[in-house]
Amino acid sequence: MSQFITVLGATGSIGKSTLDVIARNTDDYKVFALTANTQVEAMVALCLNHAPRYAVMADELSAKKLREALKNSPCNTQVLSGVDALCQVASEPEVDQVMAAIVGAAGLLPTMAAAKAGKRVLLANKEALVMSGQLFMDAIKDNNAALLPIDSEHNAIFQSLPVNYKNDPIAQRQVRKIFLTASGGPFRGYSQEQLAQVTPAQAIKHPNWSMGQKISVDSASLMNKGLELIEACWLFDVTPSEIDVIVHPESIIHSMVQYVDGSVLAQMGNPDMRTPIAYGLAWPQRIESGVDSLNFFEVAQLNFEAVDNLAFPNLKLARQAFEAGGTAATILNAANEVAVDAFLREQISFAGISDMVDEALNHCEVVKADSIESILQADSLARRFVQGKIQA
Ligand code: NAD
Ligand code: MG
Repeated sequence: MSQFITVLGATGSIGKSTLDVIARNTDDYKVFALTANTQVEAMVALCLNHAPRYAVMADELSAKKLREALKNSPCNTQVLSGVDALCQVASEPEVDQVMAAIVGAAGLLPTMAAAKAGKRVLLANKEALVMSGQLFMDAIKDNNAALLPIDSEHNAIFQSLPVNYKNDPIAQRQVRKIFLTASGGPFRGYSQEQLAQVTPAQAIKHPNWSMGQKISVDSASLMNKGLELIEACWLFDVTPSEIDVIVHPESIIHSMVQYVDGSVLAQMGNPDMRTPIAYGLAWPQRIESGVDSLNFFEVAQLNFEAVDNLAFPNLKLARQAFEAGGTAATILNAANEVAVDAFLREQISFAGISDMVDEALNHCEVVKADSIESILQADSLARRFVQGKIQA
């Protein structure tokens, strides 16, 4: 029987890749709902193509436009708007799986709604987990939801860990280390002086992956790796000291697990998000994803380097935020989102991003992250703090 899928963030890079994989496997997967923020034209095309039961635009005016555009079309999609509607389509009884691919903190409530409704959650939206940590992991557990990591590194770690790792203390003792790989982004090897000159256009040009703007800047600043370090700690119940970050410029090895006997298991493949997406959708089975076979002779070489923590302080800031606990990671994430946006608008420099995050971590009060309200409050205070700094 086919499964019904809600794709949160359907017009984005991950959303499109998800719909591509679904389109290759239409006997097994049907689109239940698609959501976006303001991209009306893209959503019209997706609705005509996939005929979802619901289309949700977070933005109300965009929903109006979409309704208008679909009025005389053959598709019977019902158009809704707002955050409540995002949460609704993530938790309706018929939905089997929810692809959480909204970018940033905006994804928290709908992703949490999917977890609370006991869905199988395919998590691309790492910011949602970074900001809510324990609360999100508890929601998954308490509601018998399943959590499948879509971030390529975490998907690779998931594939390389022993089956049932999380519930098996013996298996846990057999794992010595997790190696989280990083491409190093477009500015790998740059000095602090060189980084002072870089532009948004350079920052969003990733050497290996084609992604949304925000994650592309995060990859360039290594904040993406910082968020991923925190993500891995929650997903696999480990501490930052059990994770080594390794720069691997080819992005062929997507991450690795080392065992006590010295074995290292790596998951490899072309850098194409359709592989982890297909794995998440079909797990524990495997399905066609449209990704080409890896050509080892074309790749020819795999290289490895250490992270330059001096030029890229974000990874260390993320480690500190996770260790501080409470809402520190929420503050880190919120400050970064506002700073990245300001960098893209050319209001601050590239180095300004980590400066803002550092200042927010030093100035914003860290409280217990034990409710959605306290998390949203910390998020909004950190945003206001950084906005104030940018305008000053
Ligand atoms: P993107 O910018 O291409 O797409 C973002 C999607 O979120 C769009 O559909 C947009 O309409 C929607 N959105 C934006 N703001 C919203 C709001 N306020 N309310 C509701 N919807 C909103 O981003 P992406 O590259 O697809 O990344 C999505 C998520 O997946 C991010 O959290 C990113 O870190 C993660 N991720 C992406 C990749 C990748 O290869 N692109 C890899 C790993 C993880
Ligand atoms: Mg990743």
